[in-house]
Amino acid sequence: MPNKTQATDSVSQLHHIAAKLVQYFKKIKINTIADLLWYFPFRYDDLSQVKKIKDLTEGELATVRVKITNLKTYRSFKQKMIITKMLASDDSDTLEAMWFRQKFISQILKEGDEIYLSGKPQKKHLLWQFNNPTYEKMKDEPLHSARLVPIYHLSGRLTQKQLRFLMNRALKLSQTMNEPLPVDILNQEKYPWFHQALQEIHFPTNEKTLDQAVQRLKFQELFYLQCKYQLSKNDYQKQPTYSVPANKRLLEKTIEDLPFTLTNDQERTLQEILADLSPKKPMNRLIEGDVGSGKTIVAFLAALNIMSAGWQTAMIASTEILAQQHFQSSQFVLPKKYLANIALLTKNKYLLNNHQEISKKELLKKIKEGQIKFMIGTHTLIQDKINFKNLALVIIDEQHRFGVNQRQSLKNKSQDERVPHLLSMTATPIPRTLSLTLYGDLDISLIKEKPAGRQPVKTFLVPENKRNDAYKFIREKIELRQQVFIICPIIDESDKLGVKSVTQEYEKLNQNIFPDLEIRQLHGQLKTEEKEKIMADFKNNRFPILVATSIIEVGVDIPQATLMIIEGAERFGLSQLHQFRGRIGRNDLESFCLLFTTDQTQLNKQRLKALTQTNDGFKLAELDLKLRGAGELFGTKQTGLMPLKIARLTDTELIKKAQIWAKKVTTDQKYLSQKQLQNTLNNLKTKIHLE
Ligand code: ADP
Ligand code: MG
Repeated sequence: MPNKTQATDSVSQLHHIAAKLVQYFKKIKINTIADLLWYFPFRYDDLSQVKKIKDLTEGELATVRVKITNLKTYRSFKQKMIITKMLASDDSDTLEAMWFRQKFISQILKEGDEIYLSGKPQKKHLLWQFNNPTYEKMKDEPLHSARLVPIYHLSGRLTQKQLRFLMNRALKLSQTMNEPLPVDILNQEKYPWFHQALQEIHFPTNEKTLDQAVQRLKFQELFYLQCKYQLSKNDYQKQPTYSVPANKRLLEKTIEDLPFTLTNDQERTLQEILADLSPKKPMNRLIEGDVGSGKTIVAFLAALNIMSAGWQTAMIASTEILAQQHFQSSQFVLPKKYLANIALLTKNKYLLNNHQEISKKELLKKIKEGQIKFMIGTHTLIQDKINFKNLALVIIDEQHRFGVNQRQSLKNKSQDERVPHLLSMTATPIPRTLSLTLYGDLDISLIKEKPAGRQPVKTFLVPENKRNDAYKFIREKIELRQQVFIICPIIDESDKLGVKSVTQEYEKLNQNIFPDLEIRQLHGQLKTEEKEKIMADFKNNRFPILVATSIIEVGVDIPQATLMIIEGAERFGLSQLHQFRGRIGRNDLESFCLLFTTDQTQLNKQRLKALTQTNDGFKLAELDLKLRGAGELFGTKQTGLMPLKIARLTDTELIKKAQIWAKKVTTDQKYLSQKQLQNTLNNLKTKIHLE
């Protein structure tokens, strides 16, 4: 191997064997030598105990150290298959080994060679026999036997042996690689050096050194992720922003005039926001609050405070109907004096106060001139060619991600030098550990308390033989002019948009159960406008039953919907189910959620029972995380969110440790002046794609 080969070189540089296997490496996302080194075994076979032949046990994986006494290769008479047969012995006994269709063996092994042999032996005619065992010559350092042997996921024609052989070469190279962690960390945390950790994770000396290697590599991954967050936070925070004093009198008066009293959590969250707005450092805060906890009003009050200082706020909702809902409620809760400064701006709707239509051109002009101070809309607000005069606050509703690029684009839209404050809101209750990892650069306000008088949604797990009672119950509710959601899971892989599952359920209900009632269906294949129309009609109680996939919007208020039926509940995560039911029970009517499941296992029933016992979204999220892993919390779409190779989101202690170190390293000049670390951090900056 030429000296100059580097970790960033193509894996094909390792050896001519690797060059031939490039296409298979590609399939498992290995392009460079560094990628290969980060491709970890998914398990190890313990072949470290070398046994005597006489101590072998039938069918049990074992390694022996033997000398070859006889080796023959021939073709089987009938099938013309190449067979290699070997006799070998140690000082306790003799064994026989056979290999089929492996014509190279006779070129590699010779009589008199000492080898390790690993496999599952069988006793035949008083002789221990191995079929197709793994072998390895004594003169090599053992990679495939007589040790903890790494087992990797393979692709195409790639074999374990080839992968180990190439890994071993790559590891030799890694000895000259730079150490990516600051030495202080290694010393204090007692972590092994990088190349040592890589060596140990691929070819462990023993369980203990393996564990140390795993801890170190996990830490490294989490540490750099946290550094990324810290850097983007530090960078954004360096920019000038708006200092907005709290207009206490106006806020107090507005709060007094609300038709309800704010909960303590809402009050506290508002105070946290106001405190963020006053120093000259942009806010980056996330309000995390269960569905129906009343996040919107807090955001409105923050916007009001900005308006009263003469600056602009943009509120971005995830859908058109949600934007309209926000616009409408803003008209009820904000002081009259300010209503003329509020506008709705979606893809094809432009409204001023009192739902007065206005042309797009005119609206954009008013925004540019700063007459409109509070714009409520969809993503159009940041996509279109909208210029703000002085955008001081951006509110993002129900979005998990809002990247640095988007933030930057907002800044460029304003004629003002200053960057806006950022307030995001989510109803996905994220366990603390996870929010540290996912939102390491955000400050978080929790709204845990539900508004007074809100009744919890009564949830039941309904056995199949009570299904007819459930249908009767639906009728009773509809007779009271109340409405019903029916949620269907995706039936199979081919039904990605849920068309089949929804249609099947719809037809069953429409033909057999409720032929006299109007039922409509909502699934992923409908156009956005159709979906919005259906939701708007349902919201206005124009029909009583909506059959839908999980796409029904988060946050839409449907005051008369009091009953939700969820079919195939086992297919959803607990958090997701909890989000579904948050769409009902948004007023003071008693509401119900009925779960049906076809999975009768104890585990599933227990899991769903949790939903009937608690209304605490955070508890359910913790439980979900434990039972099904992080992907479930965000649905399959967002599992790509965490590009973690080895660390897990449940590595709580390590995450904390990594965060503490990241804060130190990204702010302390002592570290920042280290050239190599500086380079690494600079590279991270350009690669930020995660918030
Ligand atoms: P979410 O947190 O899910 O976005 P919303 O902000 O949409 O919840 O609030 C849900 C409903 O609760 C709205 O109709 C809102 O007016 C009402 N609400 C908000 N705060 C309170 C409160 N403190 N007391 C009573 N009702 C409230
Ligand atoms: Mg909401």
